[in-house]
Amino acid sequence: MKTYNVSESKFAESKKYLSGGVSSSLRASMKPVPIFAESASGTQIRDVDGNEYIDYMLAYGPLILGHSHPVLMQRIVESMQVGFTYGIQHEGEIELARLLTEVLPAAEQVAFSGSGTEAVMLALRLAKAYTGKRKVVRFHGHYHGWSDSIFTSFPSSDMSQKPLFEHESDVPPGTAGQSEGSLQDVLLLPWNEPELLEQVLRTHHQDIAAVITEPIMCNSGCIMPLPGYLENMRKWTKALGIVLIFDEVITGFRLSNGGAHGKFGIIPDLVTVGKALGGGIAISAVGGSRSIMELVESAKVSHLGTLNGNRVSTTAAITTIRELSKNNGHLYQQMEATAGKLAEGIRSLFRKHDIPGLVNQPGPMFHVMFTELTEVNHFDHFQKRDADAYTRFAELLMEEGVLVRPNGLWYVSAVHSDREVDETLKAIDRVLEQLPN
Ligand code: PLP
Repeated sequence: MKTYNVSESKFAESKKYLSGGVSSSLRASMKPVPIFAESASGTQIRDVDGNEYIDYMLAYGPLILGHSHPVLMQRIVESMQVGFTYGIQHEGEIELARLLTEVLPAAEQVAFSGSGTEAVMLALRLAKAYTGKRKVVRFHGHYHGWSDSIFTSFPSSDMSQKPLFEHESDVPPGTAGQSEGSLQDVLLLPWNEPELLEQVLRTHHQDIAAVITEPIMCNSGCIMPLPGYLENMRKWTKALGIVLIFDEVITGFRLSNGGAHGKFGIIPDLVTVGKALGGGIAISAVGGSRSIMELVESAKVSHLGTLNGNRVSTTAAITTIRELSKNNGHLYQQMEATAGKLAEGIRSLFRKHDIPGLVNQPGPMFHVMFTELTEVNHFDHFQKRDADAYTRFAELLMEEGVLVRPNGLWYVSAVHSDREVDETLKAIDRVLEQLPN
């Protein structure tokens, strides 16, 4: 039986000084307590109570090469020896920008920022400036960061299922403190409903600057787009003068070096990347067509940030991309195969224990759900899962030395191997034995 006494007392201490006791609201939801890390290496993370875990949380996605990858660490240390950040230009920015234009099909030019939230802010601003319009279509169950102009609550929490908000003030704020008017430009639609999207775009295109979408709905069930959905989205937005933004903060450098758009062969006008790009160091980027991106160059669109493009972050991103590109990107095949084995293993354990459950696995990430449904390809289906059962499952898995997010999304890194998969499946077998079916 694991104990979390030290984490518990550190959490109590933390709450005295750190608002909420954690640095990002979601982290507070970990049961039985938000654990405190002592150290991590490769696939392993150790907490302050001395408990060890195989890590599938991977810091919410960025650690695509695992913890403290030796090559990444060496390059970061070398870069720090010549200065962390300059506030003036350096060669690393050109090198990374060039590299991104080579690997991301949508990027003729790029701009750097520090987080996915900021990248989305810039992409939306560019789209509005480029089109001279102000409305943005976004979808239920997607997450695009926590800035006021797009945040409509985190997908795993309850939200209105009302399909279309006809009136400007109808999209409710996602959080206390967000002004009523912040979402006045947002049209919130269900995803994977092509007829409705087409109708809304055709009716309101004169006001719509952008459609922003996760190309795979990673934040709510790892749901794939229906066949033709993104292709049509591309076709309609292009024809109607609307900027299409793929938010690839999760899928970028996780699904492939070219992100989901590279893999699917659909080229949005703008793409946002973050998380895996830096391998665990804060960096994000917007890439897009030259005609839109040059609004930054001409200083019509302000793009700011003290630490943007700093030496450490550009080095981390260049190294991460180079590692992922080795041997024609075989690491992607390896990660996908590892995730596939794990996903299939979990499905067969659900069957063995007669527990209704499902795994959606689009790549080196997957979503595990307790649900009676045989298919989850819409946010409505995702909302029907038994979230409490999953939380309990995640808690019991921690006991067994496996660390996963309490919401069901698992990430696999380049250093997860069959050994971890076997150990994890044995742990899941023991946990499912304890769950009521
Ligand atoms: N966009 C997507 C699709 C995300 O999943 C996230 C974070 O989970 C963000 C944007 C925001 O990124 P960050 O947390 O780095 O601000």
